[in-house]
Order: sequence, then C-alpha cells, then structure tokens
Amino acid sequence: MEFINCNICTADDTRPVVSQNGYDIVQCKHCGLVYVNPRPEADVLSRLYDGYHQRNGKDIHSWSVLMKLIYKECADTLTQVFPRGADVLDIGCGYGHFVSVMSGLGFRASGIDPSANEVSAALQNGLDVRLSTVEDISFGENSFDAVTMFYVLEHLRDPLYALKRAFHILRPNGLLILRVPHTTPIVRALSAFNIKNNLYDAPFHLYDFSPETLRRILALAGFQSILITPGTATLPHVFVEMAVSRAASAAARLIYRTSGRLLGGVSKSAVAVKPFSGPETR
Ligand SMILES: [Zn+2]
Repeated sequence: MEFINCNICTADDTRPVVSQNGYDIVQCKHCGLVYVNPRPEADVLSRLYDGYHQRNGKDIHSWSVLMKLIYKECADTLTQVFPRGADVLDIGCGYGHFVSVMSGLGFRASGIDPSANEVSAALQNGLDVRLSTVEDISFGENSFDAVTMFYVLEHLRDPLYALKRAFHILRPNGLLILRVPHTTPIVRALSAFNIKNNLYDAPFHLYDFSPETLRRILALAGFQSILITPGTATLPHVFVEMAVSRAASAAARLIYRTSGRLLGGVSKSAVAVKPFSGPETR
C-alpha cells in the first residue's frame, strides 16, 4: 500500500470520510478532494483489473446498453459543434462502443484502453483502437478536436496528469467531455442512517469528484469555459452557447443535454475547452 498527497493541491492533510471494502476514503481539508488513501501499489491495482469489465455478469452487450444514452447525448453534442471528419479520441474506450458510434457518424474516431481483452474485441470489429494507458499516450500535440473520458478519471492514479495529457493532444478550441460519478453526498446520507454500502467501489475508484474539485482540477490542467452539470439536469442552452462561443465560434450552436436516468442521477458531466493560448502543461 502507498500513501499519497492530494492530487489537486498536493497537501497531506485529510479527514476521514468512511472505510469501505477495507480501504479508507479521505477528504483533503484544503481543497475538498475525496480519495482512497492509502491505496494499492500500481502493479497490484493492475492485476485487480483483470476481469473488471466482466464483473457482475456484464458482457460486451450489457456495457453497450448501459452507456447507450450517454453516448448518444455526447454524440449529439459533437455533431453540433464539429463537422464530419473531425478527430475524436475516446480515452478508456473499453470495447470501443463510442468509437463505433462516432465512426458511424462520419468522424475520425479512435480510442485507447489499457485492457487487452477489450481492445482485442474492438480491433476485431474494425475499430481504430490501441492498447495504451492515458499516461503512455503517444499522440502528438494538437491531434484531436475532441477528447472524451466516460467514467475514467475516478479510476486513474494521477488524474491531473491525465487531464494535462488530454489538454496537450487537443487542438485549440478543442473540447474535452467527461463523465464521473459523484458518490460522497449519497455515502454521507446513508452513513447518517448507519446504512452500510460499497458505493465508492474502492480500490477501482481512487477518487470522487464534486463539481468544485472537478472544476478545479480541469482548470489546473489548463482548461477554460468549464461547464459541469449534475447527471439529472439539463444545461441551460444559452449559458452553454455563451461559454463555448467565447472560445470557439464554430462551437456556438452547442446544445449539451445530459441525463442520469440510467445511473441514478449521481453522476456529473463536464465540458471544457482548450483555449487558443493557454498554459500548456505536460
Ligand atoms: Zn487538496
């Protein structure tokens, strides 16, 4: 097991939130980030992921059904912002369902995933998917118009570094669209009634982002025009238009709708823009 400092503010100053599945979940007293500390070493975590996508009887089809609505909403957004042929990368693409959706819409869609089984299945379906972690990403600067990360950030050992990598490979005015669970409010509510649960899914989920910590880590990575919405809400159309059009006139028709119907309304979506001239960090 390894002890870590806060991924956002680097402080080593936490309060306990809860213990689940044998792991301590803590909250940074300075920025509010919730994370597992201590956590398993990288090689142990990697081995734990064998069979992760097949847990609870899930297969390639059930993942597709589970994520279908979320993929459709994101695809609707991207087709309104970018022309056909735009470059989209799905980080943590799993079986490549979203890559398939975007390819079908005429985008140049590709994906990366660290799971050999999932990448193999995607390749057999003719998709442009490669075996890679976000840390080892090999694409050059300004390679993509959009990067998506569906339920990925909470799994990563260094989410700030991953977001910096996403920033690096995005073109100016490029969009990052991501989705994360937000578990802490529900766990606190259940704890008040002494209801035991395993909602953090430790150690697979190493972090739990609130709207505030998600906004902060995206800004630290260089993103601007950051829009975060609860899973059950619909972003105000006019606000989205204003925010995104500041960075990209081509994005002025953005209508971003999101729904948490499939996932209990605890998730958060974020849209963030790489500005024309921002702090390029690696
Ligand atoms: Zn912190």
